[in-house]
Amino acid sequence: MVEWSRAGFECPLSNGTRFQGIAVSRGRAVGPVARMAGPAQPPPPTRLTGPADAACDLISASAREVRDALRWKAGLTAGVAREVLEMTATMAVDPALLKAAHHLVREGNLAPAPALWQAASDLASKLEGLGGTMAERTTDVRDAAARIVAQITGAPVPGIPERNEPYVLVAEDLTPADAATLDRAKVLAIVTALGGPTTHTAIIARELGIPAVVALERQLDAVVDGDLVGVDGTRGTVHVGDFDPAQFAASDFPEFTFTGPGGTADGHLVAMLANVADGEGARAAAAAGAEGIGLLRTEICFADAVREPSLEQQEEAYGEVFAAFPGRKVVVRTLDAGADKPMRFLHQVPETNPALGVRGFRTANLDRPVLVRQLTAIARAATAHTADVWVMAPMVSTVAEAEEFVRLAHEAGLATAGVMVEVPSAALNAGPILARAAFASIGTNDLTQYTLAADRTIGQLGAIANSWDPAVLRLVEFTCRGGAQQDRPVGVCGEAAADPALAVVLVGLGVSSLSMSARALGPVSAVLSRTAFAECERLAGLALGCECAADARAVVRANLAVLDESVL
Ligand code: PEP
Ligand code: MG
Repeated sequence: MVEWSRAGFECPLSNGTRFQGIAVSRGRAVGPVARMAGPAQPPPPTRLTGPADAACDLISASAREVRDALRWKAGLTAGVAREVLEMTATMAVDPALLKAAHHLVREGNLAPAPALWQAASDLASKLEGLGGTMAERTTDVRDAAARIVAQITGAPVPGIPERNEPYVLVAEDLTPADAATLDRAKVLAIVTALGGPTTHTAIIARELGIPAVVALERQLDAVVDGDLVGVDGTRGTVHVGDFDPAQFAASDFPEFTFTGPGGTADGHLVAMLANVADGEGARAAAAAGAEGIGLLRTEICFADAVREPSLEQQEEAYGEVFAAFPGRKVVVRTLDAGADKPMRFLHQVPETNPALGVRGFRTANLDRPVLVRQLTAIARAATAHTADVWVMAPMVSTVAEAEEFVRLAHEAGLATAGVMVEVPSAALNAGPILARAAFASIGTNDLTQYTLAADRTIGQLGAIANSWDPAVLRLVEFTCRGGAQQDRPVGVCGEAAADPALAVVLVGLGVSSLSMSARALGPVSAVLSRTAFAECERLAGLALGCECAADARAVVRANLAVLDESVL
């Protein structure tokens, strides 16, 4: 059941200069800008000008400042983020690092900043040479050094800005690690120069419920820290200068609430599930009426972990999610590492084409015990809760991989093992794959990237990497056919499921569940529940008959009477 409310919808848009980007996370916010500093650059190798003792004292005092600030921040966080911050805090005052920096001041005659930077680079190279867990410390050394140099020189600290007041985060782009340390109470909205609708930034922003606009390119270069901006994550605009903040914040799109069960106007059931990354997200999804979890992105639990999280840490993290959905379906995706989601403990070698490299399920060939331990932790957490736990592997591309994953999951005691369909080969082999796997979940973000050969992390390719493309829709249809042959359910957990008009098409193609960020449940079910199943099939046929994404989208929207272009 869906309730509509149109409060505030008639308010006109505010004025001021308006920049257009790509809308990736709905909602509006007004606040002062805090720019994220880019990656730290080596300071120039300037010579020491004053007394060496004072220079050494400055290095030590700056290192202590950095340690104290990081420890304070660690105290406000939990889990992996806390561990990372504590590790960097310890590294900032590492005696070997400081001794080497002092030596470079006294004997090398270097100024404090270049001396510290040089000492850190030497130490990082040494640790890298030692390999194993020692090599894992290099990122902490480099991060600590960048912070100490910023402290010495007064330059902005790299990474997510630290502010006492809430702000609008303006960045080139965010890494998964940046995203993992976002303080949702502080970040009112996210605006990035790069990125597209399916990049990590977009996905995390949607999951955290933070309005976000990406792919603004150089339009916001003149905006500086403290400038007041209005961000409209529904329309993809950023307002700067002469606009009325009160009016801007008041006028927004209708709110939809979803109370389930999901389905079409004539009662064809379609499970409305949520994509989450942790227990907090799961509780929010339960509150938003989600019928279960269709995608638990476990790699967020691993993001930026220096060491693989222990069985107990993993069990606790998964258990928190299961606890939010007693008796309900929770689909856990095993570690999706590589390409845009690098994992520090997996020791991946640099690749020329990482999206085509060792990523997703393929990383199990680098380190199979990591996957086995993860499956064990999921199974243990499952026995302690009543949630109906399913597991699936990311980026499976062959029948043999599907078979292998199902075997490993069964050995761990997990009965319902499926695969994600994210590459065309998996869609085309859906029949034999689903003869082995219990279900398929289509990851349209990657399926679109691989079908169109358009990197999902490159904003300029957004027009090509479009899930409305009839080639992508044909692969969805093909997967559903494979599912029907083997009597296996096929769902969609990519961002396409969160587009109300596209969701209707997916249902018409044969998809039986849709998984999305919790905030999309209302708008998607609002449209689906007003459309009969035969109409979903007719619209899917119209979309498949088109020659390009733009035509498919336009023809479906024009035929969906319930859809109001300005609203959804
Ligand atoms: C997808 O590719 O559609 C998907 C759901 O996985 P991710 O976005 O995490 O790669
Ligand atoms: Mg994917």
